[in-house]
Amino acid sequence: MSTFTVLNPATEEVVTEIQLLDIEETDAAIARSREAFLSWRTVSPGDRARLLRAFAEAVDSDRENLAQLEVLNSGHTIGNARWEAGNVRDVIAYYSGSPERLIGQQIPVSDGIDVTFHEPLGVVGAIVPWNFPMPIASWGFAPALAAGNTVVLKPAELTPMTAIRLAQLALDAGIPEGVFQVLPGKGSVVGQRFVDHPDVAKIIFTGSTEVGRQIMAGCAARIKPVTLELGGKSANVVFADSDLEAAAASAPYAVFDNAGQDCCARSRILVERSAYDRFMELFEAAVKGVVVTAPGDEKAEMGPLISAGQRDRVAGFIDESQVAFRGSAPDGAGFWFPPTVLTPTDPGDRVLHEEIFGPVVAVVPFDDEAEAIRIANDSDFGLSGSIWTNNVGKALRVSRGIEAGNLSVNSHSSVRYWTPFGGFKSSGLGRELGPDAPFAFTETKNVFISTKES
Ligand code: NDP
Repeated sequence: MSTFTVLNPATEEVVTEIQLLDIEETDAAIARSREAFLSWRTVSPGDRARLLRAFAEAVDSDRENLAQLEVLNSGHTIGNARWEAGNVRDVIAYYSGSPERLIGQQIPVSDGIDVTFHEPLGVVGAIVPWNFPMPIASWGFAPALAAGNTVVLKPAELTPMTAIRLAQLALDAGIPEGVFQVLPGKGSVVGQRFVDHPDVAKIIFTGSTEVGRQIMAGCAARIKPVTLELGGKSANVVFADSDLEAAAASAPYAVFDNAGQDCCARSRILVERSAYDRFMELFEAAVKGVVVTAPGDEKAEMGPLISAGQRDRVAGFIDESQVAFRGSAPDGAGFWFPPTVLTPTDPGDRVLHEEIFGPVVAVVPFDDEAEAIRIANDSDFGLSGSIWTNNVGKALRVSRGIEAGNLSVNSHSSVRYWTPFGGFKSSGLGRELGPDAPFAFTETKNVFISTKES
């Protein structure tokens, strides 16, 4: 059996060794999941809701432990990690309301009645990335379980620790064996097996557009439904009539949070030319004020990158002649990279089009509303974005004009568990979260019942 050595990204010290599943073990877990599905689907809606509430409470009791595990495994700041553990609790609690609300329709027809049912799909395969190991896992497994499916979940090799703990908490809360299993392993082995296995009824994937494309092709061969949450190159559009101080003060956190390893990172800042110089002056002070330090420190606002490989990848995007200014980062061990601000002049520059997934942002001026929308849409991606203006009509026009799934006016929020989340264009397919998420894990069944006298 092969193993993976988990490193603390802030210190490069070994945290633990994780055993990786092979294909036979993956198949055995899928068989257990299929078996568990046959009884989980028959658990009454009220009991399924009660078990999910107990799961949410178990997560709540373990929040600090989960957060500390994420600091150790992923280098997330302790503040972020606490939020993430709380988010998992809230997501499970929110979807614990769903089993009793999977309401079908009663459709008028002649000679009978017609009703629809939302039937669970079966075994759902969730493939999770390393950037937000806890929340992204829960956005998949919570609504899937609520709708009566069982779940096999593959965490990223780099960050398996919190997912493994969540599976234990589910068991502790009384969720039956086999209903929610976490299977550490390689994407090319365990993840690929989810795609290929006939008993996995749906794939939910978050990660790179390249792997997402491969997964979609694999699912197409088997007519297997798939939800994809992929990359982003989101624009933060700052108009001259906005509260420039607030826009500049918040812009670093909209891109450097989680060291920029965020699919919603506002990694392009578009600034109206008449406000450009003032914005850059304010933005420089804000970037230099970002506290980049040991992630367990209560004051930390940004930690390290996840791995040496990711640090090399991010460094490969930097052309020193484009660097306007930088923030700070610790020296020594750990995969540190300072917040970095670029001012590319060529609209085709790769830093304006490729997902860097590190603390790097490119700033570009624009002349008017139409040009702002055109530049924002000059991307294969369309996940999120922000619009800063004090003109409500303009805010709405630009929000409607930008091709992205999650926009935020005079703020940078992207993900609320009770609102839908997902991307346009190469940023993905389908939506997670919000009130409709459980329906993405069901098939609609139509049943006609004759009332004709025989
Ligand atoms: P990947 O897309 O390779 O990884 C995401 C998940 O998919 C991991 O669990 C991975 O497993 C798994 N996986 C990899 N290959 C396959 C496969 N053939 N079949 C099934 N599952 C597979 O992302 P990377 O970790 O390589 O990151 C590279 C870049 O991707 C980042 O720099 C960033 O730009 C982007 N990315 C975007 C994310 C987002 O939230 N939109 C999240 C993560 C990355 P394992 O890692 O264990 O092999």
